[in-house]
Amino acid sequence: MAVPSRAMFDCIVLGAGIQGSFTAYHLAKNHKKTLLLEQFPLPHSRGSSHGQTRLIRRAYAEAFYTNMMEESYQLWADLEKESGIKLYRKTGLLVIAPSGNEEFEMVCKNMEERHISWHTLTQEQCKQKYPGLCLKPGDVVCCDNEGGILSADKALRAVQEQFQKMGGVIRDGEKVKHIQPGPVVTVTTTSSVFEAEKLVITAGPWAQKVLGPLGLELPLKTLRINVCYWKEKIPGKSGLLQNFPTFLGIELNGEEHEVYGLSSQEYPGLLKICFHGGNEADPEERELQEKPNQIQDIQILCNFISEYLPDLHPKPAVVEQCMYTSTPDCNFILDHHPLHRNIVIGSGFSGHGFKLSPLVGKILCELSIGKQPLYDLKPFRITRFKSK
Ligand SMILES: Cc1cc2nc3c(=O)[nH]c(=O)nc-3n(C[C@H](O)[C@H](O)[C@H](O)COP(=O)(O)OP(=O)(O)OC[C@H]3O[C@@H](n4cnc5c(N)ncnc54)[C@H](O)[C@@H]3O)c2cc1C
Repeated sequence: MAVPSRAMFDCIVLGAGIQGSFTAYHLAKNHKKTLLLEQFPLPHSRGSSHGQTRLIRRAYAEAFYTNMMEESYQLWADLEKESGIKLYRKTGLLVIAPSGNEEFEMVCKNMEERHISWHTLTQEQCKQKYPGLCLKPGDVVCCDNEGGILSADKALRAVQEQFQKMGGVIRDGEKVKHIQPGPVVTVTTTSSVFEAEKLVITAGPWAQKVLGPLGLELPLKTLRINVCYWKEKIPGKSGLLQNFPTFLGIELNGEEHEVYGLSSQEYPGLLKICFHGGNEADPEERELQEKPNQIQDIQILCNFISEYLPDLHPKPAVVEQCMYTSTPDCNFILDHHPLHRNIVIGSGFSGHGFKLSPLVGKILCELSIGKQPLYDLKPFRITRFKSK
């Protein structure tokens, strides 16, 4: 759609990843004239939202995320209905941890208290059902029965299309170079100038580069994530590609980190199994930043595969890259700019924001238009960083 330069909008959303796209969608649903700006031509694979798959689960140690997932599942179903595209596949999600692990116990407690469909499995039951998975003595397992897989790229496309159908405007290939705060915010891109009463910043790993000139320093770390895909030693033998649930491994194999896995839609026949974390990297130069003393994430994964999934080749067949933007407590930032209330910030999704993005978008929209969100946003406020 042709948009005159210096066009005026009710709201501008900066960044067309999954969070910005859902924010723009909810703004359009609320009849706000909305512009969604993206620095790269869409689709692109330089941020955090690309790829075919993401895990979805209610199995969280923090009760507030488990609570929020209720509405998030509903909003995913709404988008499926509106777009006619299937985005969620139920597989069940196994959570595996060494016995006595606190996080595991919190996950079970939350699911039990909230009457979520879940069950525990004994080692014997696991062995019978999933012979390709070799647990260590003392490992414990539970299953979030509604856990599964979201089709990420399809979801991003679907939400952007629905936004446009409601009259929303997307301008891609336009990097925001300058933001002039005020009662009307002026946003200058590489080729245009736009104005709006409200601005929402959902810039993913570029958040600090956008917020710095607005006088805000957030304790964000941008991490380069190696997305690894693994092949079976004998195709079809492991059973891991047929009816195997997705899984989340907490502190397994003597490591303090998490690993997760799912059958890949990207590469049929391969499993996507990743380390939940990575090494710090600038999003502009992520391929160039091999430094000493980094977390040996791929080696940790190779060790995990050898021990727990021995029917897979213990070296990845494919490695791709993605970015996390992490906060110190791994909770999101959903808040107003402390000095400019008509600027709202969604950031710090810390590698687990996709499943919640329909609700994150709704909350950012509500903050922007002055509606009271239904949730207690204390865990997501910017002020939490100052008091520590
Ligand atoms: C490998 C990997 C696996 C993950 N797995 C899961 C999972 O299983 N489940 C789950 O729930 N979550 C998962 N996540 C996390 C989830 O994908 C992210 O939380 C989510 O995608 C973050 O979206 P975003 O919109 O904040 O960021 P992004 O997708 O990075 O979007 C930000 C956008 O802003 C644009 N931008 C930045 N600066 C400017 C500017 N100046 N002008 C214009 N545009 C700009 C960028 O180009 C980018 O497109 C995973 C993430 C990764 C990397």
